[in-house]
Amino acid sequence: MSDLYELLGVPRDASTDDVKKAYRRAAREHHPDTGGDEEAFKQVTHAYQVLADPDKRARYDRSGDDGTPSTRGGGDPFGFGGAGFGGIGDVIDAFFGSSFGGGGGRGTPRAQPGRDVLVPTELTLEEVAAGVRREVAVEVASACETCGGSGSASGGAATACGQCNGVGQVQRVVRTAFGQLATAAPCAACRGTGRTVADPCTGCGGDGRTSQRNTYTVDVPAGVDEGDRLRVVGAGEAGRQGAPAGDLYVEVRIAEHDLFERDGRDLLAEVTVPVTQAALGGSVTVPTVHGDEVEVEVPAGTQPGSVLRVRQAGLPGRGGGRRGDLRLRVRVQVPTDLDQPQRELLEQLADLRGEHLESRGRGLFTRLRDAFR
Ligand SMILES: [Zn+2]
Ligand SMILES: [Zn+2]
Repeated sequence: MSDLYELLGVPRDASTDDVKKAYRRAAREHHPDTGGDEEAFKQVTHAYQVLADPDKRARYDRSGDDGTPSTRGGGDPFGFGGAGFGGIGDVIDAFFGSSFGGGGGRGTPRAQPGRDVLVPTELTLEEVAAGVRREVAVEVASACETCGGSGSASGGAATACGQCNGVGQVQRVVRTAFGQLATAAPCAACRGTGRTVADPCTGCGGDGRTSQRNTYTVDVPAGVDEGDRLRVVGAGEAGRQGAPAGDLYVEVRIAEHDLFERDGRDLLAEVTVPVTQAALGGSVTVPTVHGDEVEVEVPAGTQPGSVLRVRQAGLPGRGGGRRGDLRLRVRVQVPTDLDQPQRELLEQLADLRGEHLESRGRGLFTRLRDAFR
């Protein structure tokens, strides 16, 4: 989480007024309705909500707690659901009046598009290697089947709300931490949409939407990585009264693997070979994420920690292409359970190589120390 003061570009001793001014500038720059970046807008808005509130700001200064329960995990990992954009409506309206979110202005019913929805899906490395077809279930407000999403029992089009003249908001003057503000509250008659229907559908109460559980089949291509998102256009929340639907995003999570660790297109794993094999050479057979096994040569004189590379036994890139490699880090297993004949053989070997068991350790240590000088 970024520093909230840095986000707004104000010093830590900035007055509430300075915070307000900085936010006004930042919000104008980032507001999605004027082509800004949605994520940046949400962040500066959050920073403002904390820093403009003396209590929240004091708590943030003291402990760094900015009121965000957890940025990841939980029921709404992406921040699209829950309060969504509606939750910050009051703040924006306080500054910008009806110029933002008010659509075409007074008297013009605005179409409020549905929100985007994000659903995580977890893939094994085997699934990343081959690509996979996934069923994704999502419970969202969907177009009402009774009225086809119009919200009207007779199928008539929505018209401008009489209570708010289609603006979707009613003006109110409220006292706040920085004096009196003209703020806009969502209109109760039209629930902030600015549109009403003359004969509300009984299935959805005129909203045009009912909660439904929908299932989509998503083809996840090979080579995807943590955090990649696949978009299903129009599968998010339905808009109110026939307005356009949001999109569904399926976000990829990669499950931990027992054997392999991912490094881009390469896969990493450890192989353990006995000390005799490391010295004499041989081969090991290892499984791959592609469902087969490969035989890997262990050259004579292989050292602990050296890496054996199996070409193209890794993962494909996004959209296919040449596979990465499988890199095997060698662990050399020194026996701890020598019986008498084995021990004698090793002693004989030490003897033949002139490696004296009594003095060798000291001599080696000396040489190492010399090497570091
Ligand atoms: Zn309906
Ligand atoms: Zn209204």
